Amino acid sequence: MGDLYALDFDGVLCDSCGESSISAVKAAKVRWPALFDGVDSVLEDWIVDQMHIVRPVVETGYENLLLVRLLVESRLPSIRKSSSRFADALLRELAGVTIPPERIYGLGTGPKVKVLKQLQLRPEHQGMKLHFVEDRLATLKNVIKEPELDGWNLYLGDWGYNTQKEREEAANISRIQLLQLSDFSKKLK
Ligand SMILES: [Mg+2]
Repeated sequence: MGDLYALDFDGVLCDSCGESSISAVKAAKVRWPALFDGVDSVLEDWIVDQMHIVRPVVETGYENLLLVRLLVESRLPSIRKSSSRFADALLRELAGVTIPPERIYGLGTGPKVKVLKQLQLRPEHQGMKLHFVEDRLATLKNVIKEPELDGWNLYLGDWGYNTQKEREEAANISRIQLLQLSDFSKKLK
């Protein structure tokens, strides 16, 4: 017996929003140089700041670039939108946590629904209580749609990249438990 925790990385274990936003601004400058002609450092700071507010809509990294573009366009109307190795390095550097590489699933591993199915089939996980901690409500809803994954306890981390509206919606879904950071830390001990 025992517990198996499947943890989302970005938003649950790590807050990458600052770094990913700065990277997205740099990439957007290269991609759309003309768009950035009128953008000064004050506006750039504003964009990075705003990215924290719009971050919940992002599913995959490249979408940050489109958000940067949208933010720039919203301010300059005349102009008219992680790999597993990376996760491993970050965890080790920032938190002093070493997780065996075979236990880290990155973008290349496939959708999370698929990863959860693989995890529950492993012989060493038979009989364990299954827990999935995620900060994206849409991902949890995808899990609920899969009858095969009925055995997972689902948690929405309220410290992650989700909105008040999404947290309220999650509170009305019986399958999902809202989780606070302090309770999450206790669970991991
Ligand atoms: Mg996340």
